[in-house]
Parts: sequence; structure tokens; C-alpha cells
Amino acid sequence: MARYTGPVCRLCRRSGEKLYLKGEKCFTSKCPFERRPYPPGQHGLTRKSSKMSIYGQQLREKQKVKWMYGMLEAQFKRFFRIAERMPGDTGENFLSLLERRLDNVVFRAGFAKSRRQARQIVRHGHVKVNGHKVDIPSYIVKTGDVIEIAEHFKNNREVQEAVALKRTPPAWLDVDTNNLTAKVLRLPQRADITHPINERLIVEFYSR
Ligand code: SF4
Repeated sequence: MARYTGPVCRLCRRSGEKLYLKGEKCFTSKCPFERRPYPPGQHGLTRKSSKMSIYGQQLREKQKVKWMYGMLEAQFKRFFRIAERMPGDTGENFLSLLERRLDNVVFRAGFAKSRRQARQIVRHGHVKVNGHKVDIPSYIVKTGDVIEIAEHFKNNREVQEAVALKRTPPAWLDVDTNNLTAKVLRLPQRADITHPINERLIVEFYSR
């Protein structure tokens, strides 16, 4: 599945907020958003002050979440349509599905500094689910699954550096940083996602 390969810091500036797409750099003074917190391009500063329409707000929220999870439109929309068919609140189901992506789980468990890096680790076959290699970043984990960094990759420098950051994993994952495993204790819920997201705007966008 294709992915966005352009400059990611532009996406934060376009969204008007930090999306933490680059790992450690996002927490340092080198973050471009700290110095230029307005949209990129010649008219970025002017655009910042202009009032946004309802459609513009819906579009921006949809784009923001899509970029956060490193997805392209077709796959993002496909996930939304799956969430629509599930019982319960569509917006919450949608966010839960995004959280359950294998690349996100590797990131949330603290085995990668960013989702982008986690995606690469999965894509290159360094992750196992229940003892079997899975190299599909969009693979959806379920309750009871055990995600593990493959034995041959456990000493990888990038993985070890990510673990050394000691990020707090979400409550739905039981992470063992010594063995680099993470067990899915339950499905992620809305309250588990702390980044400010207005999923109602995304539901409205796709319901137009
Ligand atoms: Fe966004 Fe991180 Fe780049 Fe800052 S460093 S603009 S938070 S991706």
C-alpha cells in the first residue's frame, strides 16, 4: 500500500498543530512548527488569519488524522466505511480501528520513535503477531494478540533508542520492554486517545 513520502513537517504546519510525526525531533527546539506555526507557502501567514468554513474545518480534521496515522485517502476512507458498519458510535469505532493498526501498536508500545518508523519495521518483516511474521502495517490487532519484535531485530539501534525514551504505553497494551513484546489487553477506547481529535467533524465530512 502506498504512503505519503513528502516532507512531514509541512503537514503539521498545514494542520495548524504539532502531529509528532518525526519522533524525538518533535520535542526539541528544532521542530519547524515552533518557529513557523503557520501554513507553508508564500501566503501561509495571510491564510492563518482567514476564517475557515465548516467544510474547511471538517476537511482539515480529516486530513490531520489521516496524516497522523500515515495513511493515504483511499485506505483512510476504507477504514471509515468499515467503522460505519460496526455497531456503536462511528467516530469512536473509527479511531479505535486506527489505533489497532499494527504499525500504530508498534509505535504505541514504544518500539519505534514514530509511526513512520514503526511502519518501516513492520514492512521489513521485523514484527511477529502471535509468533508469526506479519509485514502488513494496516493489519488490525485484536484482544489477546501478542505483538513482538522479531528475535533477529531486538538489538537494532533504532528500536533500542526508542525503548530508551521510556514512553508510557496506553492502558490497553501490556508492554514488556525487556522482551520487546506487547499484549493487547482490550480494544482501545475513545478515552485512550489523548491527542485532541474531533472525530465528529470527520464523520460529518464523509457523510456529506
Ligand atoms: Fe511536526 Fe515533529 Fe516536524 Fe515538529 S518536528 S513540525 S511536531 S513532525
